[in-house]
Amino acid sequence: MTGAVLLQDVHFAWRRGGFALTVPHLAIATGERVLLVGPSGAGKSTLLGLIGGVLPASRGTVQVLGQDLASLSARARDRFRGEHAGIVFQQFNLLPYASVLDNVLLPLRFAPQRRARAGGRHGSAAEARRLLSALALDGGLETARAATLSVGQQQRVAAARALIGSPEIILADEPTSALDQDRQRGFLALLFAEAARAGTTVIVVSHAPALAPQFDRVLDLRQVLAAPAQAA
Ligand code: ADP
Repeated sequence: MTGAVLLQDVHFAWRRGGFALTVPHLAIATGERVLLVGPSGAGKSTLLGLIGGVLPASRGTVQVLGQDLASLSARARDRFRGEHAGIVFQQFNLLPYASVLDNVLLPLRFAPQRRARAGGRHGSAAEARRLLSALALDGGLETARAATLSVGQQQRVAAARALIGSPEIILADEPTSALDQDRQRGFLALLFAEAARAGTTVIVVSHAPALAPQFDRVLDLRQVLAAPAQAA
């Protein structure tokens, strides 16, 4: 069993003398829901970037779904991420002038396997609507431009976009920071219910310790990293 994520002796530095992190060993099982915590600036987003293949490790092995990311070209890594990872960004990164529906369908455009899993060219809009409704977004909003939505609604669109086509892994960077605690919990419950349907692994970065009981495991980044490298 390779699990969902395996990091071995991974090193990354933003630039020579800048922030650097070393992860001796980190394994995340398939279907596991992991909350990644740690102080601001500790490297949580950087670690998500390494797992998502957005940032290349300068040393060591990053395996995602059994695939060694270093063995892929940058382009192949982008394709791999598009097919297999759903990403919820801190600022959601929705296309402001595109409709809610088009925003949800966006990841399928360059990911043919994922599009097929979502129901293909004809079925994927229905799947997008199902997800929006499962995430409690009013069906009347599907033609609305993303920019006209409230923050809570935009967050649901971002979650539907991450979930469409059942990617094996979801990476979410502080997806709930704009919401109060009750709404944060409610949002995660909806996200997890959908993720559980497909056995999806979910890794969430958050500052909110109150969310911990909803996860299988809380990983404090300070326990994941080797002794910090010297900053310049
Ligand atoms: P966290 O998510 O835990 O707040 P980050 O991973 O965002 O931490 O940042 C960790 C460190 O990496 C910080 O010191 C930050 O300044 C640095 N860093 C983040 N992004 C960049 C970047 N694009 N270029 C250079 N340094 C960066």
